[in-house]
Formats: sequence, C-alpha cells, structure tokens
Amino acid sequence: MDLEILKTIGLKKYYGSGAGLVKALDGIDLSIEEGEFAAVVGSSGSGKSTLLHMLGGLDYPTEGRVIVDGKDISSLKDTELTIFRRRNIGFIFQNYNLVPVLNVYENVVLPLELDGEKPDREFVREVMEILGIYERRMSMPNQLSGGQQQRVAIARALASKPAIVLADEPTGNLDSRNSKEVVGLLKVTGEQFGQTIVMITHNEALAQLCSRVIRIEDGRIWKDRANAEKSVRRMAAGNLTATGILPEMATKPGRQGRGQE
Ligand code: ADP
Ligand code: MG
Repeated sequence: MDLEILKTIGLKKYYGSGAGLVKALDGIDLSIEEGEFAAVVGSSGSGKSTLLHMLGGLDYPTEGRVIVDGKDISSLKDTELTIFRRRNIGFIFQNYNLVPVLNVYENVVLPLELDGEKPDREFVREVMEILGIYERRMSMPNQLSGGQQQRVAIARALASKPAIVLADEPTGNLDSRNSKEVVGLLKVTGEQFGQTIVMITHNEALAQLCSRVIRIEDGRIWKDRANAEKSVRRMAAGNLTATGILPEMATKPGRQGRGQE
C-alpha cells in the first residue's frame, strides 16, 4: 500500500496575464502521507487557499501535477473530477454555509442526498456524537453558536467518509477556546476514521497542534517541519480533556465508542 496519499509535482497556478499576472503557486513539490494532520500557514495572499483548491480538485493547475492516492487528478475531465471530489474529499470552510431552512441532521446529509446516495445513518450518527451535535440534530442553524455550526459543517464534510479532509481556515470565525476545540475534534475524527487532513490556519498555536507545519510564501514552500507526534497527541488530549469532550477518545483512537461518560 502506498502511504503517500497527496503529492504535488512542480505545481503552478497563475492567474491573469501580462502586467496583471499573479503567480499564486509557483512550483510546489509536496508529499503528504496517509494519516497526517498537516497545517498550512503563511501570510495573506501567499497561495494557501489556491493550494487547497488544487489538492481538492476544485480547479486545474496552470502547470504541474496533483496526485491523489496514486491518481493524477490534474488530467481528469471536469465530470470525472467532480465525481473524484465527491468520493474522496471533504471540504470545510471558514463560513459554515449551512442551509438556514434545514435542521442540523438535514444539513449534514444534504450533499449525500443531492448525490442520490443513501446516508449511512449509523455512521452519520457516530460522527455527530463525536462532534457533540447529535442531541442538536433537530435544531435549526440559527439556534446554534458559531462553534456548533462549524461542527455541523465538519459532520457534513465527513458524512461521505472521505479519505482526505481539506479545511480552509475552519476556525477563522471562532474564538480561541472554540478554535482549539474544533481542531482537537478534527484530530479525533481524523484518527477515528483514518483520514488525512490538511488545514489552513493563521493561528500559530493551532498549527502546533498538527503533526506537520507547511509554511508558504509567494506561492512556494518556505518551511516544512514535522511536530513531535508525542506532544501532538498530548496537546490534543489535553485540549479535549480541558473542554470536556470525549476524553477517552483522544487516548484510544481505535475505539468505536459513543462517548457515554
Ligand atoms: P491565501 O489563501 O494564502 O490568502 P490565495 O491562494 O487566496 O492566498 O491567493 C494567492 C494569490 O492569488 C493572491 O495574490 C490572490 O489575489 C490571487 N488569486 C487567488 N484567486 C484568484 C482568482 N480567482 N483570480 C485572480 N487572482 C486570484
Ligand atoms: Mg485563503
């Protein structure tokens, strides 16, 4: 089995032309292994979102290749790319983009239903329980806090069982306590469901919770550093304990529990 799940080779993305040419990505060579929780940091306009879009097949590169689980997605046709995306990638954005007239559960399963797929109800329930929103499944989005709304958006991204989760500033609208909680939860769900996560963040403290920090400037990788896994686990566990969210899950990632404590 190939452990390398995400790879870019000489990836470039240019916008505009002539005097208006913007080199949003200017030669990115990146390799991410299965199960990693990588943070992408860098100043505003450095190319972070563009990179995430390329990794998730939301747009085509100008040059170079994006290889996901051994498959070169940069050569896929539009409809193939859409199908690939639906099956493999879960996106989480800064704005939760919940449908206001649908309740929490309906929001979570909406993308699956739009795809004509039957949600795995047991799985969706497990995801919602881990995220602490199952009791709120009948609530409407406007009855929830920002942190709760983002957890609903996370559940929606995970409902299709994606192998890869791409998050663009998922904590951008949250206070620091909720931000740590959301990142801790992503770490727990990532371990529970064996996902690879790439998360853009402005927040250095949050980046340190990840197993790796990739720093981008001017469309190029500036630094790429692994965090010690031991401390990552300890910090994630500490956050979850401090916030009272399923402390047992953080130390027993393989457990299929329901968080009864
Ligand atoms: P970041 O997410 O790091 O803030 P982006 O990836 O959004 O940066 O943008 C990188 C650069 O590409 C910026 O200069 C931005 O203005 C430009 N850019 C991004 N998207 C587009 C687009 N659709 N059209 C033209 N320029 C774009
Ligand atoms: Mg951005």
